[in-house]
Amino acid sequence: MPIQSTTDDFRLAKPPLDELALAEIKTAIVAKLTLAIGKEAALATKHDWYKAAALALRDRIVHRWLMSEKDSYDAGRKRVYYLSLEFLIGRLFTDALNNMGLLPLFDAALGDLGVGLSELRKCEPDAALGNGGLGRLAACFMESMATLEIPAFGYGIRYDFGLFRQIITQGWQQEYPDEWLGFGNPWELQRPEVVYQVHFGGSVEHSVDSRGQERAIWYPGETVQAVAYDTPIVGWRGKHVNALRLWSARAPDPLRIDVFNTGDYLGATAHEARAEAICKFLYPNDESAAGRELRLRQEYFFVSASLQDLIKRHLHAEGQLRSLAKKAAVQLNDTHPSLAVTELMRILIDHHGMQWDDAWEITRATLSYTNHTLLPEALETWPVELFERCLPRHLEIIYRINELHLGLANACCPGDVDFRASVSLIDEKAGRRVRMGHLAFIGSHRINGVSAMHSDLMKETVFHDLHHLYPGRITNKTNGITFRRWLMLANPGLTELARATCGDEVLDDPSRLDRMEDYAGDSAFQQQFRNVKHRNKVALSRLIGERLGIKIDASALFDVQIKRIHEYKRQLLNVLETIALYYAIKDEPQRDWVPRVKIFSGKAAASYRYAKLIIKLINDVAETINNDPDIADRLKVVFLADYNVSLAEVIIPAADLSEQISTAGMEASGTGNMKLGLNGALTIGTLDGANIEMRDHVGAENIAIFGMEALEVVARRAQGLDATDVIGRSPHLARAIRAVDSGVFSPDDVGRFASIAHALRHLDHYMVSADFDSYYEAQRGIDARWSAGPAWTRAAILNVSRMAWFSSDRTIREYAEDIWDVPTTPAAQPAPVRQAKR
Ligand SMILES: *Cc1c(COP(=O)(O)O)cnc(C)c1O
Repeated sequence: MPIQSTTDDFRLAKPPLDELALAEIKTAIVAKLTLAIGKEAALATKHDWYKAAALALRDRIVHRWLMSEKDSYDAGRKRVYYLSLEFLIGRLFTDALNNMGLLPLFDAALGDLGVGLSELRKCEPDAALGNGGLGRLAACFMESMATLEIPAFGYGIRYDFGLFRQIITQGWQQEYPDEWLGFGNPWELQRPEVVYQVHFGGSVEHSVDSRGQERAIWYPGETVQAVAYDTPIVGWRGKHVNALRLWSARAPDPLRIDVFNTGDYLGATAHEARAEAICKFLYPNDESAAGRELRLRQEYFFVSASLQDLIKRHLHAEGQLRSLAKKAAVQLNDTHPSLAVTELMRILIDHHGMQWDDAWEITRATLSYTNHTLLPEALETWPVELFERCLPRHLEIIYRINELHLGLANACCPGDVDFRASVSLIDEKAGRRVRMGHLAFIGSHRINGVSAMHSDLMKETVFHDLHHLYPGRITNKTNGITFRRWLMLANPGLTELARATCGDEVLDDPSRLDRMEDYAGDSAFQQQFRNVKHRNKVALSRLIGERLGIKIDASALFDVQIKRIHEYKRQLLNVLETIALYYAIKDEPQRDWVPRVKIFSGKAAASYRYAKLIIKLINDVAETINNDPDIADRLKVVFLADYNVSLAEVIIPAADLSEQISTAGMEASGTGNMKLGLNGALTIGTLDGANIEMRDHVGAENIAIFGMEALEVVARRAQGLDATDVIGRSPHLARAIRAVDSGVFSPDDVGRFASIAHALRHLDHYMVSADFDSYYEAQRGIDARWSAGPAWTRAAILNVSRMAWFSSDRTIREYAEDIWDVPTTPAAQPAPVRQAKR
């Protein structure tokens, strides 16, 4: 055993502090409070102190930032530009402190000043500029790129309102605006000098110039200005700092004085309102197609500003654009920035007089695209008519790209009209629409999926024909998570245990976690591991008590499903199993049931009615079960409102069981699965997304896999969606559906869940009924394993020790090598991939 102490205390070890540095930090914070906030210490609120501390920290970061920028510039290094409409960052204060190595100093300084750091960090609102996994991935990638010292910019939109705040009222979700900027944002620096004009609408004229070249001139109908706001992103150990540059929209001419003077005050600012609407709010995904012109405007706005910015930087350094692909790699996070293909072509040809073929070569060599979903309803298309109205020149370029591309298609499969229709940039089937996924594919040198299975399915489904036409472009980059946030910050207890067991090197090299493996069966080590988990569970129980007034026994099995509410993620399957378990306990109350707490958290898109009904069902079931005296403490159901990064940081370290139960073939990767595994939760899951690779790493005996596989799902769907057969064979399922249908959980409105019961019986597209028995069985296996204490702990420890590969540092290294062609800091020896044992 490497651990001498038998105490359970794994709070951050406190090295001796440098008294001079401590005094300096205290002085800096007080100076900020006085001079930047304008408050005296005696009158300052916690919020004032938080801002003062954040600004003092920011000063220290900015110095490194300017150094990083200068070094990259002097060395002429290639830069990565990560274009994403979403960055789900959460809080930055302790993240930046930790990466700067200043956590102990600030902790002590703030303590001396009489304000606790842990209190102050709660003053920071989450930056929730994303829906879920895709936006959180962008945030993890920003941190990993800084850690690996890759010169990079993140580009996105500075939304005035982030993802809505979720409130649960009588079991129903209600949405409220997220006013994250209400108290200002100490991290960002406005760059009033970095402004670009972004144009919309109007018309295009063609002419021939003096050299006989055809020229297109766009006469736009409307202009909006993009103003830059930079947030520094510090890498681990503070060696490198990158910028997240978010664009805010404003009208070039905010007030029409002439109109104002006529007394038309609203009319005088109307075009200002129209311009500013672009950065007003984040679109929830799953939103219906209606009224989405604003979304297209958002997409073009941020793509155009970002490309203008990076081209200006390139020209400043290189004086020409031929070398663009050597100095810039632009990654498109999903199809939202696909207009980069046409915008870059437009800039190169219309503004810089380049020939089409040269421009096309540069564009393709510069851009690459990450696909995040195979769901046909989630693949973006825009009506040609809308394009014509908003972006006429871009539509012309799309037509020209398509013409050349269809020429290749014809050469590849002469006369095959179906092939031609399937690879075309224009979908002619449902009105003429531009396929943004196809555009991003054709305009990129690399297209990647986000897990091995997802990348394989891309080749077989949505991009089957494009893959045939352009073989070798599709590659896989399995997602990852940053361990600094999801282990070190979220779980200091486990981090301390890992340091004591694996050495301090584990902080820089997660593959060292494998040293824990030797102690997985050691009973003293297991006890320490359980103590850490227990403390985290006590903390979560306290939060649940405070927020919901539900009393939780921290020794129960914490069974966690936290993610967006979506049919394919199958929260419904989990609820049905909960109901079946509820009846099983009622039938045999004398049995020694494993006490469980079912914890749900997640938001549904405001327009997604069925998902909102599922939230109501979870809450109605909770109400019934939590108040049934027959059940006592053996089963509790909890729905925690307003899931976001900060809430995830509390729930994940306390989880025993991680629910990753999507319909096989539908979850591209998942990253919640990785966060939970890293924090010592066992996974119950389907063979979907990155669950498959997790099984390969942790070993099949340390993960509970159930349910149909992707091909079986396809086969069963082909036979129809009726589930009468499986329900007939499953008394547990039949009874649960009957209870939902007959109003057991909704006595005030017995028909409330009839639509759910109907879908479970006759429209089982997501295989909830079809997978039920397999899931129920797997859950009873979990009960048995939990009862055999040490075996559970051993499996949990092995999950932690074998998760290193899922670090986003690994993912970013792969992007850097295979897609971007940029160097990174040298990697430690990669952890070997364990052979799957099934
Ligand atoms: C990680 C994360 C997600 C993604 O979770 P999945 O289970 O992979 O869907 C969504 N939201 C937040 C706040 C997260 O931290």
